[in-house]
Amino acid sequence: MHPEGRGTFFSISLLAPVLCDFVFLNSADYPDLRKHNNCMASALTPAIYAKLRDKITPNNWTLDQCIQTGVDNPGHPFIKTVGMVAGDEESYEVFAEIFDPVIKDRHNGYDPRTMKHPTDLDASKIHSGVFDDHYVLSSRVRTGRSIRGLSLPPACSRSERREVERVTVQALAGLKGDLSGRYYSLTEMTEEEQQRLIDDHFLFDKPVSPLLTCAFMARDWPDARGIWHNNDKTFLIWINEEDHTRVISMEKGGNMKRVFERFCRGLKQVEHLIQERGWEFMWNERLGYILTCPSNLGTGLRAGVHVRLPKLSKDPRFGKILENLRLQKRGTGGVDTAAVGDTFDISNLDRLGRSEVELVQLVIDGVNYLIECEKRLEKGQDIKIPAPIQQSRK
Ligand code: ADP
Ligand code: MG
Repeated sequence: MHPEGRGTFFSISLLAPVLCDFVFLNSADYPDLRKHNNCMASALTPAIYAKLRDKITPNNWTLDQCIQTGVDNPGHPFIKTVGMVAGDEESYEVFAEIFDPVIKDRHNGYDPRTMKHPTDLDASKIHSGVFDDHYVLSSRVRTGRSIRGLSLPPACSRSERREVERVTVQALAGLKGDLSGRYYSLTEMTEEEQQRLIDDHFLFDKPVSPLLTCAFMARDWPDARGIWHNNDKTFLIWINEEDHTRVISMEKGGNMKRVFERFCRGLKQVEHLIQERGWEFMWNERLGYILTCPSNLGTGLRAGVHVRLPKLSKDPRFGKILENLRLQKRGTGGVDTAAVGDTFDISNLDRLGRSEVELVQLVIDGVNYLIECEKRLEKGQDIKIPAPIQQSRK
């Protein structure tokens, strides 16, 4: 990844006449970020780069490997990306001088040095969680969990990846009742079965996204990847896509409260089953659950709906309304797809600094506001841009 001389500190003035072909200052490797629009590019100064370039994590992961995806993807057509990933749990500490400002930028001012992240998986606290089915086509809550001691997908070896699959699949066999199901390995699936699961929104896309490939997460595809789901396909676990595991609860229609209840119940069982086997999830009180992309730290939670908003989506105030409500818009085919027609994937933008309950409630209140706007526009009435939601914790 680096040119010659990596890790060496010679006095350039003394050795330059002899070694000028071999020795570069760290800053000579600073990437050209002038045309970039991602959080990493805004935060990475030549001084931070020079200071961190030669550091390595216990799993031999480097700063350059963390930022490669953001260097190779100056922007994204639909969302503002973070532009960097972690290779292991320790990346967030070893490279804190760049991760911290990126996290602060991405999570509405959350300061990972001074703030503590709350967890709350008590779904009974949710109110008015059932949307009008005329607008909301499906509801979904997902998170990710990483298994402590194994490198994350950008950095893991084949054996580590297979270990993640083995540990998780063994644990999931313990799920009972409506949550019981089975594992479908990508390597054993036919192309048609795989495509069907993707088209029905149950399975992650093929590894075509440059966000994935430039972060080294498509290596060895499809080895040790797969999906576990219950018989109703309402509780699903992805294995070894962007995170070790992604835990998903979803169903058609607008009953977000029920989706979140199943999510909390299932997630607690999964955690218990993993712990019973002597493993634990990556977590600390400042960053919450540790995942590959800094955008997913904290809760890792993305609660979202596929919602039809034909009138509001054509209104010039739509973007500002979403921004002020801390909501993100995606196409219904996933993060790399444009919206088709009038239906959007609307979800919480932040995942860190607020609990799971708070974030799901924020999405419920926000989506209800959007539907209210849509109804007002249908009747020819005016709509208002709501006041911006502030980061709640100090
Ligand atoms: P994630 O944040 O879970 O990685 P992506 O944007 O990568 O989400 O999309 C993954 C898949 O999940 C896609 O097939 C997408 O259509 C599906 N999906 C996301 N939200 C919903 C929803 N509310 N209803 C149905 N499917 C959804
Ligand atoms: Mg995704």
